[in-house]
Amino acid sequence: KEKVTQLNSADYDPEREIYTEDGERVWILGNAGNTEDVAAAVKAGAEGIGLFRSEFLYMESEDFPDEECQYKAYSEAAGICGERPLTIRTLDIGGDKALPYMQMDKEENPFLGYRAIRISLACPQQFRTQIRAILRAGAKGNVRMMFPMITTLNEFRTARQMVDECIAELDKEGLPFDRNLKVGMMIETPASVLLADEFAKMADFFSIGTNDLTQYIMAADRGNANISDLYDPHAEAVTKAIEIAIKAAAKAGIEISMCGEYAADPSAKELLLRLGLRKFSVSIPAIRRFKSTVID
Ligand code: PEP
Ligand code: MG
Repeated sequence: KEKVTQLNSADYDPEREIYTEDGERVWILGNAGNTEDVAAAVKAGAEGIGLFRSEFLYMESEDFPDEECQYKAYSEAAGICGERPLTIRTLDIGGDKALPYMQMDKEENPFLGYRAIRISLACPQQFRTQIRAILRAGAKGNVRMMFPMITTLNEFRTARQMVDECIAELDKEGLPFDRNLKVGMMIETPASVLLADEFAKMADFFSIGTNDLTQYIMAADRGNANISDLYDPHAEAVTKAIEIAIKAAAKAGIEISMCGEYAADPSAKELLLRLGLRKFSVSIPAIRRFKSTVID
């Protein structure tokens, strides 16, 4: 039985730890787009950042941010997090997000097109710059790297191999970095769910992106009001996909969290806990809501 207590802000305790009925720890992480968000999330009680959307750094720059610029931004965020994990998602551009300085062809179906990891793998020089900056920021805190929109095993393998190459480079250059930095992936395409067992052998962790996963599983554009009833993360097919991903992670013994908006949906919490989810990465207001909820 769940007891929900809305604490007023004077009573609000950001350090509160959340447990399931059976006494299992539940982790509340934050989603962030910049260092201010990271600071606000930590202040609100986030036990780490489950999703740092690095594309905002790119969108606010006049040109591709160079390694030093990225290193500075990620290090600052890592410093704010201290021992808490900071999960930096590599550039997730395309779909509904554009870079003013990057020429992109007009596409019929941008969400099925040239976006996220597909762009990173096609632009290895830019991708290496970002990977190096993340690895170097790893020397400043508990940093992790996560790839968006993974669809094929080869995409993850290639990206992971690029990380290894950057590690070898940094080693040669003698720059401080984290050689054991964890490398994970978003589960947000049906293909990644169907191959979750295989991906779980290669990735250090999974994070379920229900915003995209819902639109791809339901074949319903996340921004189209005409079919918004179909774009429903509560749909049985989406639940099934989430369950498959959680089981695959458990079987392989890797960590799994959820960073899509569904993680913050109060009506989903019971189901997600029942499916075995223990790590919820949510927006800043939702951190407070979660932490004001006593589960006992
Ligand atoms: C998602 O797809 O659920 C997600 C967290 O990524 P974004 O909303 O940035 O696409
Ligand atoms: Mg997404």
